[in-house]
Amino acid sequence: MSGFIFGVDLDGVCADYSEGFRDFVAAERGVNPETLPLERSWDFREWGLDEAEFGRLHHKAVSESRMLRHLPVIEGAADALWRLSDAGVWIRIITHRLYVNWSHEAAVSDTVAWLDEARIPYRDICFLGAKPQVEAHVYIDDAEHNITALRRAGNDVIVFDQPYNRGLKGPRADTWDQVEEYVLELASGHGWLQPQLPGIDSGADRLLRKKTSSSQDDG
Ligand SMILES: [Mg+2]
Repeated sequence: MSGFIFGVDLDGVCADYSEGFRDFVAAERGVNPETLPLERSWDFREWGLDEAEFGRLHHKAVSESRMLRHLPVIEGAADALWRLSDAGVWIRIITHRLYVNWSHEAAVSDTVAWLDEARIPYRDICFLGAKPQVEAHVYIDDAEHNITALRRAGNDVIVFDQPYNRGLKGPRADTWDQVEEYVLELASGHGWLQPQLPGIDSGADRLLRKKTSSSQDDG
């Protein structure tokens, strides 16, 4: 029994793929990143990419530039996930980063390193190819094909707002505070929540604070 499970997608939800990939593509082309709009379609047509060119650049970004290790964290994700975790929600990271048949080693190891660096808490992690459903009580995703497939199978899915998913109906969250509120409401409806344990600090930097204070004690 693992409690109330929240299935959390990474790219476009916790990790700012658009911004990280934009920096890479701009450097490859020797252009100012501002010339590649962040208000983009799912297929990057505003950046002049077709499917083959996207595949080539994504592969190079992941395997040579190790982009997945350095993506910006989407604001508020780590703190909201810590608070949900403290409330007893089981965080299950779900990433579709293995949808291509190369650079699996870089994708997996850089994802785990990135999660540590971003201080995002999780109880387990699923690296998926196509199948979106992994037995969670509620999911969050930004990709239309995943959201549609999950909903078709009867799942509760929050849309994390991105320019390429505005045609989908809600629930929709623009910020991680809204995500947290929705998940807490749903989890309390299932009777799963627990209060924060006494003596445990809140906040995503708690481990660092703990390490710092214990090394001061040691010293
Ligand atoms: Mg995504």
